[in-house]
Amino acid sequence: MRSIRRALIFLGFPTALLANPWAAVPGPTAGPPRVIGQTTNGCIAGAAELPTEGDGYLVMHLERKRYFGHPSLIRTIRTLGARAHEAIGVIQVGDLSQARGGPMPFGHRSHQTGLDADIWFNLDPGLFRNADRWRANIPAPSLLNRAGNGLNRRLWSRQHERLLKLAATIPEVDRIFVNAHIKRELCRTVQGDRSWLQKIRPWFGHDDHFHVRLVCPSDSPECIRQDPVPPGDGCDSSLSWWFQKHPPGPAKPAPPKPPMPEACQALLNGD
Ligand SMILES: [Zn+2]
Repeated sequence: MRSIRRALIFLGFPTALLANPWAAVPGPTAGPPRVIGQTTNGCIAGAAELPTEGDGYLVMHLERKRYFGHPSLIRTIRTLGARAHEAIGVIQVGDLSQARGGPMPFGHRSHQTGLDADIWFNLDPGLFRNADRWRANIPAPSLLNRAGNGLNRRLWSRQHERLLKLAATIPEVDRIFVNAHIKRELCRTVQGDRSWLQKIRPWFGHDDHFHVRLVCPSDSPECIRQDPVPPGDGCDSSLSWWFQKHPPGPAKPAPPKPPMPEACQALLNGD
């Protein structure tokens, strides 16, 4: 076994793939879709595949093969692409999940159950030219200024606000993670209907893409939903927290990682 592993490494097989069987499965399992566990500790049976391009969207980093998800996620992205196409342009879609979900060798802690997708903030059509040739290496520019203490005013636009609103108003969308500077900008500028701001949650990073998470689908009783987002637009002390200095507290030991749901192990080994 060890010599096979060494030979594969010698042949240029990424070691991370060998160490993580979830990244090396042959494809989704057959049968009806079924989300199991939490987005940070789970998997998905019967995942659907997002076509690598469609009306108003283009999937990036095809080599990662992370364009699988629950059919509700595939539908959500196609809907968002079609709506964005009319008003905004073509959106770039980053990682969804692996063919059977599960932990990834690099890049994310969540995205394990086919209910998460990253959408890049870049809306510059100039970057799409020859996209097929270099879709793997295309940059995802940050919307923050160089100091990282505010938005880059040359890049941030009302189109980003429109895109986030289109995404947040899709009923299956449970929440959307964005950088706190982006949330603050929306809190300051959105006029009229502000109810959709409730789903826009500040989080670390997320300055070059936003992260869409769906609710548990009704066909998946084993799906564990995150606590619901609190009521209100979130433009309150929970947002100002992100802009305060926090003195370093005593280092808390990381809680022990819960075991993966048993059904996931069976899924990994199944056909
Ligand atoms: Zn993400």
